[in-house]
Amino acid sequence: MSPKCARCDRTLVPIAYGLPGPELHEAAQRGEVHLGGCMPMAEEWWCGACRAYVDPDAATAPDASVEEFQLYLVSALRSVGPGGPETSLPAPYNDQRAQVAAKAKLEAWLDRGLPKVGELSAVLGSPLPIPGNVFWFGLPLWPDLWFAVTADDARFVTDRRFVRREARPMRSLAELRPWNVLLPEAEAFLGPPIEKLDRGGRENRTFRRYRHGDERVDAYFVYDLLVSLG
Ligand SMILES: [Zn+2]
Repeated sequence: MSPKCARCDRTLVPIAYGLPGPELHEAAQRGEVHLGGCMPMAEEWWCGACRAYVDPDAATAPDASVEEFQLYLVSALRSVGPGGPETSLPAPYNDQRAQVAAKAKLEAWLDRGLPKVGELSAVLGSPLPIPGNVFWFGLPLWPDLWFAVTADDARFVTDRRFVRREARPMRSLAELRPWNVLLPEAEAFLGPPIEKLDRGGRENRTFRRYRHGDERVDAYFVYDLLVSLG
């Protein structure tokens, strides 16, 4: 059964992408489907009354701001010991009480189960309009990175991690600093780990032990971003 528009309660119609054949044209004329054009977008539903794309999942999104979501991410990045990111952050992100409050608020939402892409969009704005099941969200606090979520066919988020917007290979060990390097970048420089532990979970925590010359390098990642060196 099709979901309904939260604004006008009318039943939404699915959006079809690509060059329509005669059957699809007729279905569109009957109002059973909306033609979305040749470029596939993230939007799946259309309200004929509001003449707008509608995401039924957005209705269950938390009433949170981008700032609160970023605070939640900061608390997640800072949750892994030993040590922590050295980077000093602008207000309010350096305020531990603000982090705790955002964490409590967003965890109540995330604890209900996997979030849906539409719920994230309601908080963060639309992801990059690219086809596929990975959705790239821009976050002002990390201008060089995308917050990339992978979703299953029902649009439930199954994976979250940071990815670099423009490739920036690691060139020296000095670059291996918290919040400066992503896991694939560390791995490309240091080679495969000699030990690893994927704890996964909401924060997508991972541990890697690398050998660099005679040295051992222990690295902790959250959402693939290096947060601590052991
Ligand atoms: Zn509507």
